Amino acid sequence: MIIVMQRGASERQIHAVEEEIKRLGFIAHPIHGVERTVIGAIGDERGNAGLLALETWEGVERVIPILKPYKLAGRELHTEKSKIKVRGRVVFGGKKVPVIAGPCSVESLEQICTTAEAVKAAGATLLRGGAFKPRTSPYSFQGLEVEGLKMLAEARKRTGLPVVTEVMKESAVEVVAQYADVLQIGTRNMQNFDLLKAVGQARKPVLLKRGLASTVYEWLMSAEYIMSQGNMEVLLCERGIRTFETATRNTLDLSAVAVLQHETHLPVIVDPSHGTGHYEYVESMALAAIAAGADGLMIEVHPNPHEAWSDGAQSLTPDRFTRLMTRARAVAHAVGREV
Ligand code: PEP
Ligand code: MN
Repeated sequence: MIIVMQRGASERQIHAVEEEIKRLGFIAHPIHGVERTVIGAIGDERGNAGLLALETWEGVERVIPILKPYKLAGRELHTEKSKIKVRGRVVFGGKKVPVIAGPCSVESLEQICTTAEAVKAAGATLLRGGAFKPRTSPYSFQGLEVEGLKMLAEARKRTGLPVVTEVMKESAVEVVAQYADVLQIGTRNMQNFDLLKAVGQARKPVLLKRGLASTVYEWLMSAEYIMSQGNMEVLLCERGIRTFETATRNTLDLSAVAVLQHETHLPVIVDPSHGTGHYEYVESMALAAIAAGADGLMIEVHPNPHEAWSDGAQSLTPDRFTRLMTRARAVAHAVGREV
């Protein structure tokens, strides 16, 4: 239920309503807007009758049922777009479209630092790099693990770029959160509900990739798992879905960007690297993503893609990435955004 307070409702009236929501066994999520306060009551819907009675309380204008099952991620309760800050500097969900760039995997201190310097010079504002890698084959490189996290932290120290890196299991959330600025949940773990609950308890923004065979509804319900644990800082990342098409590694679903901008207040990021699987297609899909209204990009960049330990075929050289950024600025400008 959404409890809409009257314009000018007093602090005391708002507080009394919040207390009643809690007494009825719900969690109160107040949102203080410029004009008025609305309070979301989240919990077991069998207690709805008690909430409806709040309409008679002082300072309450209306009590409205939330219709969408993604109560916290949806726009019904939270109509304004969310702004999510990373390290207090980079903001997702505003006019700017931050770009996250870096290699698929952290391979060495030199590799991650060289890449970090190059992507920063081109205008990226966050660094990516996997230290724990979810690989299709158990015989493929699995990541440098904690050593990789330390290299990412060193690259951050040298460049100032905040770090985005994947966490694959609940037991690693604490150590990854110790080094990372944004916790990435990979496509294969989008419905690992225990992991989602664990990052929901972490105090770091979460970049939630779309499951490779998941609908937008399922994806938003996964965001809901994180948010229902108290972590409202979720970034949704479209990275392509599995279809019959084999010309590209996945099919980048850019229509999901438009759907999500309508359905959720959470920022939407697009990863055209995993979305296409081929470096030749990354730039055009990155530009299309910005035109479609994406709030951020994630791009794989490697100093020497031919020698990359993972995802070399879809990685851009620093030169190609620089060109992408130049063109991205022009597209962003055309649609009233900035890169
Ligand atoms: C990655 O970002 O390198 C990655 C493994 O992504 P995804 O989970 O989208 O495949
Ligand atoms: Mn990758």
